[in-house]
Amino acid sequence: MALRRATKIVATLGPASSDPALLEQMIRAGVNVVRLNFSHGVAQDHIDRARLVREAAHRAGREVAIMADLQGPKIRVGKFAQGKVMLEAGAPFVLDAARTELGDVTAVGLDYKPLPREVKVGDTLLLNDGLIVIVVNAVRGEAIHTTVKLGGELSNNKGINKQGGGLTAPALTAKDMDDIRTAMQFQADYVAVSFPKNATDMEMARQLCNVAAAEFNHRPGLIAKIERAEAIPKLLEILLASDGIMVARGDLAVEVGNAAVPALQKRMIKLAREHDKVVITATQMMESMITNPVPTRAEVSDVANAVLDGTDAVMLSAETAAGKYPLETVVEMAKICHAAEAHDVVKLDADFSGKIFARIDQSIAMGALFTAHHLGAKAIVAMTDSGSTPLWMSRHLIQIPIYAFTPRVATQRKMALYRNVRPLLKDTSGDRDTALQQAENDLKLRGLIQSGDIYAITCGEPMGAPGGTNMLKICQVV
Ligand code: PGA
Ligand code: MN
Repeated sequence: MALRRATKIVATLGPASSDPALLEQMIRAGVNVVRLNFSHGVAQDHIDRARLVREAAHRAGREVAIMADLQGPKIRVGKFAQGKVMLEAGAPFVLDAARTELGDVTAVGLDYKPLPREVKVGDTLLLNDGLIVIVVNAVRGEAIHTTVKLGGELSNNKGINKQGGGLTAPALTAKDMDDIRTAMQFQADYVAVSFPKNATDMEMARQLCNVAAAEFNHRPGLIAKIERAEAIPKLLEILLASDGIMVARGDLAVEVGNAAVPALQKRMIKLAREHDKVVITATQMMESMITNPVPTRAEVSDVANAVLDGTDAVMLSAETAAGKYPLETVVEMAKICHAAEAHDVVKLDADFSGKIFARIDQSIAMGALFTAHHLGAKAIVAMTDSGSTPLWMSRHLIQIPIYAFTPRVATQRKMALYRNVRPLLKDTSGDRDTALQQAENDLKLRGLIQSGDIYAITCGEPMGAPGGTNMLKICQVV
């Protein structure tokens, strides 16, 4: 019997997790969202991977969302003749956009050609996620002359970041635009945009997704990966143009410095929840489990603290994509989330004070939360079409589980990311009283409520119209 867990787990699919039986086990162990990393593979690979996920989820009997994570304008060095070089502190090193031959210990080519026009003398560049630090001495034509400050091994196609941000590459590359079309072919539930700088980047992604998904009548959720220094002052506008954000701590830490990230994480999670958006906390959460069967205590604390911050989901990257212990990592992460949630501070009354809910559906959602909390209800049940009622409900920390019934598979999958929401599929379009009774029977059969339990249930009349939640009923299970 799986532990009840409110926080969701996003796991990145990769060679280590592509075996169908293993993936099914990982889903049973708690994976709610599978991330397909579009930095690797071609269109057909992604289509095949998406099918693998849908089939494994079906066998496991779980609702799993797919998140297509676009590569974005990752700025990288070219390739080396020997595959890699060792850079020594104090040595000169040239990044040359015009170089056509393979790199060596003195110079390497660039796949981002505008870079020489976007850096100036004195700028600090970070290579390979900040493991190597170089400082710009001069820019001559297409060549950036630097001195190595912090040396190390540099291999093919490693990323380049500029400390403090300021590279102008647009968030959506031509490859990303093609990838959006691929992702809409398999109706990805979420699309994650890498390196957005402002709301316009997200609006552009939204338009491309909507055009590509129109023929399927599909609308993916859009996640902005916050990983650029210049995205921080624009956080609110980016958030409002998106359905959610990812605290993408890898690239973000390189641009703003490691030490600034924990406070930013807390701020982003709080801001997202306050604006009815979802938030994923990502990168290096269980990093040591790439090679070890148990996490470090620092990693346990990191995951637990993200849960206590109120994140919707915690994410695994290389741990599940390329690690030795993908299943064990998910099992451990689920345990940490469960244990941390017991310490959630529920301050619902304070959450509501001074707030005005002017929409009928939102008032009903808040009324259900308030009533369930004060009555000590065992469950909150929402009959939903678009998923907005459960989304509003789940923006408040509460120990009572929210069960969301929807007739739409796309809504069910989207809700797989919402904290404390268990999405269930049910045709709720018929007679209201029958639908309410069926929902109760279903929860009883699943062992989620039992005789004598009080629960709050919301629905809209007439049934089956989106945005129409206008009814709250408090029931006692017979
Ligand atoms: P990535 O994004 O893994 O695609 O780089 C996450 C991050 O930068 O933290
Ligand atoms: Mn990144």
